[in-house]
Amino acid sequence: MPIRLRLTLWSCLIFGFLLAAITISIYLVHSTSNYKEQDRILSKISLHIRGELEKEIKEGGSLSEARFSLEKFSLNGVYVLINDASGNYIAASLNPFRAPDAPLPDLRKMKRNLHTFTDPEFGRFRMMVTPVWDADRVVGYIQAEISLKQIDTSLARLKWLIFFVTCTGLFLAAAGSWFLARKALSGVEIISQTAQAIAVSQGFDRRVLYTGAKDELSQLAETFNEMLESLENAFVSQRRFIAYASHELRAPLTTIRGNLDILQRMKNIPPEDQVEILGDTRREAIRMSKLVADLLSLARADAGQEIRMQIVDLSKLLKEVESEIQAWDKKVSIQAEWEPSVMTWGNEDLLKQLLLILAENAVRYTPEGGHIMLAAYLDSRHCGIRAADTGIGIDPRDLPNIFERFYRSESARMHSSEGSGLGLSIAKWIVELHGGNIIVTSVPGEGSDFQVRLPKIKE
Ligand code: ADP
Repeated sequence: MPIRLRLTLWSCLIFGFLLAAITISIYLVHSTSNYKEQDRILSKISLHIRGELEKEIKEGGSLSEARFSLEKFSLNGVYVLINDASGNYIAASLNPFRAPDAPLPDLRKMKRNLHTFTDPEFGRFRMMVTPVWDADRVVGYIQAEISLKQIDTSLARLKWLIFFVTCTGLFLAAAGSWFLARKALSGVEIISQTAQAIAVSQGFDRRVLYTGAKDELSQLAETFNEMLESLENAFVSQRRFIAYASHELRAPLTTIRGNLDILQRMKNIPPEDQVEILGDTRREAIRMSKLVADLLSLARADAGQEIRMQIVDLSKLLKEVESEIQAWDKKVSIQAEWEPSVMTWGNEDLLKQLLLILAENAVRYTPEGGHIMLAAYLDSRHCGIRAADTGIGIDPRDLPNIFERFYRSESARMHSSEGSGLGLSIAKWIVELHGGNIIVTSVPGEGSDFQVRLPKIKE
């Protein structure tokens, strides 16, 4: 059932219940007080007449000889009949509202003294039967009757009025809540239409155009738009990532295929050329497998895969990395410094990968004869790694972008064809995963200094 209909039904139900409770209470209070007032009038008149009759009997008269006239009483629309002890009619007032001979049940058999009867012509009337006593003997009955027709008619009118007011009230409540629910839910409708359109077309650049008042719905629309923006960013960078990745993979594959084609087609290639072609093919294959390994690292980063952590000695890692680099074919000098034990909490493989990325970049972007310094250090609150070089440096305009995936500065491209632009984005992920940060200071043409600060293990 749509929310709009549910809201309308609920408000009608609550409003109807309240209205019914109020009007029924009014009706009941009104009718009870009216009927009670009739009983009070009957009782007042009956007791008054009985007093007069009993006084007359006491003075020596009898009921049948009583010389009183009922007309001397103010009867207020009450019809009074006097009967003897056996129920025979003696006297009656002159204002009958019902046929005097209308059949009545045997009054003597009745236990209560107040009764309601219905006359086919005059409608309902109320009767009070009061015995008249002579000492301890009942000598007759006073039968006082009052018509309920007027009250019945006015209560019947009141009933219709209540019915009419309740129906109109319910109708207005239904129309009002239907209108309000429509107004309130129009924002939700706009949001759901936008979501549907996005689901069909994947157009994450769409936004919800909500023009209503500043309320919960405008907040929802705003949040939805923010979510769309981050989805759009993720979607765009995902696409860019795929495009870059396939482009980067295609380059070494093209070289490998080209080299293999040459080897297959040309039979008489001199052995030294063959060696060169095979060396080139091998380098491209190595580059490709490194690229694939980097892509895998980033995929792991994106998947938020859980990483096993342990105590890691950064000095030991730096020692290993230094001896690996010393074995590379390079034209720069390397100096490594470490304090005896630089302990942090982390993943050994990832921290080694971080060291290798920084060291490899330093080697790659430092021209022949340059100098590289690697260090693992401790200060009062942190432990850290440093990779400084006297290389080509980084232009300040490139600095904000170097941690982006596939970003390579113009000067880096000119200086080296190696590299894919993924190293520093992996480095940043590793550092953040370990709760640290990475700071770069660099002067173009003079060198760069990468400093990684990691949490220190408290002794
Ligand atoms: P790449 O594979 O290009 O080295 P990285 O993500 O490791 O990719 O680095 C991104 C960019 O940061 C590099 O292209 C280069 O412009 C710059 N960069 C990184 N390290 C250095 C460095 N030691 N000296 C100069 N530039 C660097």
